[in-house]
Amino acid sequence: MRDSTTKAMAGPRPVVLSGPSGAGKSTLLKKLMKEYDSVFGFSVSHTTRNPRPGEENGRDYHYVTREVMQRGIDNGEFIENAEFSGNMYGTSKAAVQDVQARNLICILDIDMQGVRNIKTTDLNPIYISIQPPSMAVLEKRLRDRKTESEENLQKRLKAAEVDMEFSKEPGVFDAVIVNDNLEDAYGQLKHALLEEINLVKKIKVSS
Ligand code: ADP
Ligand code: 5GP
Repeated sequence: MRDSTTKAMAGPRPVVLSGPSGAGKSTLLKKLMKEYDSVFGFSVSHTTRNPRPGEENGRDYHYVTREVMQRGIDNGEFIENAEFSGNMYGTSKAAVQDVQARNLICILDIDMQGVRNIKTTDLNPIYISIQPPSMAVLEKRLRDRKTESEENLQKRLKAAEVDMEFSKEPGVFDAVIVNDNLEDAYGQLKHALLEEINLVKKIKVSS
């Protein structure tokens, strides 16, 4: 899937955060966006899943029906899309362009199919995988989060096993971070992004 519109708008390199559901991507991402609110912008994906308590339409996701999502895909509005745990998810071109137009580092939170698909575009992001310390810890975190039905939880755990193997494939990720202690993982994430963060700060100071 080649796409030049996103590249044409490119400023700083985007960042892809991937890894199993429950590994801590949103938690780390929210910390990053809080500390560097004028550096990072979140690519708001579309999904057909229902919002969780506390989630907001347009901030966490654009919540849509399958029909609306499929129409958008057919119209070429998406950079990538995937089916995960019984629902559709996708990154629209507009989601990335909105962030890049503000000269912010665009962060995409996407699954491994998304990573594979983005690699066929010319978006050229930094790829970071967030992994849990073990399957047992992952299951506990997902259960404690209390957002999934048992059926959905099992689907996510199955997908997690595949994802953990995928993260070991050489050359796929620029950094693989094990989120055991949150502060340690956050430190590693910042370290992996330091060069881009400094670049954006420099651009902002000189403009
Ligand atoms: P993801 O976005 O990858 O699905 P979340 O950020 O929602 O994962 O994290 C899953 C759950 O684990 C949340 O309830 C979160 O508060 C918790 N969590 C995240 N990181 C840690 C950590 N390092 N230690 C303990 N709990 C964590
Ligand atoms: P959740 O339902 O927990 O918010 O997300 C489930 C999975 O979908 C996570 O692995 C998340 O990274 C992934 N995801 C969220 N948005 C997108 C997207 O736009 N594209 C793809 N491919 N995956 C996404």
